[in-house]
Amino acid sequence: MMREVHLIGNAHLDPVWLWNWQEGYTEVLSTFRSALDRMKENGSYVFTCAGALYYRWVEETAPEMFQEISRRIKEGRWVIAGGWWIQPDCNLPSGESFVRQGLYAQRYFYEKFGIMAKTGYNVDSFGHHAMIPQILKGSGMDAYVYMRPGEGDEKRYPFQENVFLWEGADGSRIKAYRIPDEYSSRPFGEAAEKAEQYLEMSEKQSQPVMCFYGVGNHGGGPTRENLKALDSLLASEGGDAYVELYYLLHPQIKNLNPFNLWVLGSIYISDIMLFQNVLRCA
Ligand SMILES: [Zn+2]
Repeated sequence: MMREVHLIGNAHLDPVWLWNWQEGYTEVLSTFRSALDRMKENGSYVFTCAGALYYRWVEETAPEMFQEISRRIKEGRWVIAGGWWIQPDCNLPSGESFVRQGLYAQRYFYEKFGIMAKTGYNVDSFGHHAMIPQILKGSGMDAYVYMRPGEGDEKRYPFQENVFLWEGADGSRIKAYRIPDEYSSRPFGEAAEKAEQYLEMSEKQSQPVMCFYGVGNHGGGPTRENLKALDSLLASEGGDAYVELYYLLHPQIKNLNPFNLWVLGSIYISDIMLFQNVLRCA
């Protein structure tokens, strides 16, 4: 019986949305500080964050924190995903723009941390164009995490799988994971309730699933209460089936990128995703 959930602690950061970029800037600094503090309190906690721009902001404003992040990356407690400068809209910008997203961001990550992101991470775009697999592969990434079209779009969404192989316009293939509900969780015990639902989902679908938790949009990330609730879920359930909630504790997955995804038989052409989005906007 498959009951395998990988917990992905993250913070969706909108540098501008209902606020200006200056507020987004401080949102990034406080979210990163919080992630580092949670790591000191909880030896199993892993934080995942995309967006080279955010790291640049920390580097220029809080160099000591930047060093701390660098140490956590080496330790494997801080995971860099999304080798793009920022998470963009994926419908309108030109191909050249996407190529430069990868070029500048991966170069930055490599220069500063000696690594490049392996997984594209663009959780909040309302569509994903058909060249993304090709562009990601060309900049060192072979997987992609996204959220929309999601559950609410099922009427126009042609398949049920959360994990699949995505073939782009040129035939490039990447592993793709659709976040089943949303990229964040509320700040309290809801993270554990969400993880429990994901355990059931894993059992029903007979495949491992990733559960994204942590306060998002205006940043924040996993809270003390989130981690406390997840710890007690582990303690109350016990047994091997739950160990993988914290993948760092599991010997078989210890050295894997948490976004190392599984491939199902089905292959879908990305045009479908874009088409769904166009219909939605019409
Ligand atoms: Zn957003």
